[in-house]
Amino acid sequence: MLTNLNINPQRLWDSLMETAKFGGTAKGGIKRLTLSDEDRQVRDWFKAQCEALGCTVSVDEVGNMFAVRPGRNNELPPIAMGSHLDTQPTGGKFDGVLGVLGALEAMRTLHEQGYETNAPVEIINWTNEEGSRFAPAMLASGVFAGVFTPDYAYERLDRDGISFKDELERIGYRGTEKAGAHKFQAMFELHIEQGPILEDEKTMIGVVTGVQGMRWYEVTVTGQDAHTGATPMYLRKNALLGAARIIEAIDAIGQKHQPGVATVGLIENKPNSRNVVPGEVFFTVDLRHPDEEVLEVMEREFRAALEAALPPMKLAYEEKRIWISPAVKFAPELIECVEHGADKAGFAMRRMVSGAGHDAAYIARVAPTTMIFVPCEGGLSHNEAESTSFDECAAGAQVLLNAVIEHDRRLAG
Ligand SMILES: [Zn+2]
Repeated sequence: MLTNLNINPQRLWDSLMETAKFGGTAKGGIKRLTLSDEDRQVRDWFKAQCEALGCTVSVDEVGNMFAVRPGRNNELPPIAMGSHLDTQPTGGKFDGVLGVLGALEAMRTLHEQGYETNAPVEIINWTNEEGSRFAPAMLASGVFAGVFTPDYAYERLDRDGISFKDELERIGYRGTEKAGAHKFQAMFELHIEQGPILEDEKTMIGVVTGVQGMRWYEVTVTGQDAHTGATPMYLRKNALLGAARIIEAIDAIGQKHQPGVATVGLIENKPNSRNVVPGEVFFTVDLRHPDEEVLEVMEREFRAALEAALPPMKLAYEEKRIWISPAVKFAPELIECVEHGADKAGFAMRRMVSGAGHDAAYIARVAPTTMIFVPCEGGLSHNEAESTSFDECAAGAQVLLNAVIEHDRRLAG
């Protein structure tokens, strides 16, 4: 079938604005924390919309929702489109929501045109992507992918001591299906970029090839507190000066290994007094790169910089790696479908790696997965002022639909 299926941009926009009322804030954002009443409202709305299209909606034991539209051959596992409907406490209207409602628009288009796919097509709403109310982030896609157990998710507490399990039951979204039992053959996640590259390059579509690897470290540099007036320069053990040299070195490592990035974002200086040579400094280091091997090199260079800079300054240090998230490579055949889809719709595109974590990063461990990015104004996200235009939302949904159809077309051989 060579039909051109065009999504309805106005209908997509109207749905984005309509659901933005569930938890809408005075500043035009959304506060829709996981498993809150607002989350229940948007879930109920989403379920009703999918059922109106003839989809069957099921829910797994951690609240992940699956809306399946049958295909010609229902023996085939579905082709999935998924993201999340929860938001940060001062979230925007597009982070996650565009991925689910863009998928809904794609589904509505298939339904309206009576287009029969070879495989079933489905929309997934992943529970608790944000991790704001119940840490960690990407909790339920993580359970689905076997990274966490369901019990681990159930035991997560919010700041009031209320458990994930109790809230899941309270809003009526604790399903019976085992997490991970629901199989699909591919997942496409449409998402806003949450960074400034697409806008800067005036490019509509980001073809996402993976998620960069991330490593976090904590460093404590120890010197000696001393009087700033009475201690000559040559007798000082200035921990802050040592840290400053490492901060420079970290930046240089990032500059050298681009598109990798390296950041010191938090620093505590002790005793932090104007007339005391600082005796102790604590700081964090965040290293990221799409390629694990380069990340390994960045880590070695960081450690070498500590050793080269600090002992000659008579400073001691302790360094600990506290978190690691391996680089993710998305499925080449799905990436091709996205490129085909963007090309067909006539949009400028570029390949890129995601700087942020997403449900797709966990799902890539258990099924072929990829992502589609559209620009967001000023690269701004996790903010009520987050903004993606009417045209950009429409472009994302169109490319999502095109990619799914292309993947489905290839099943026919
Ligand atoms: Zn998101």
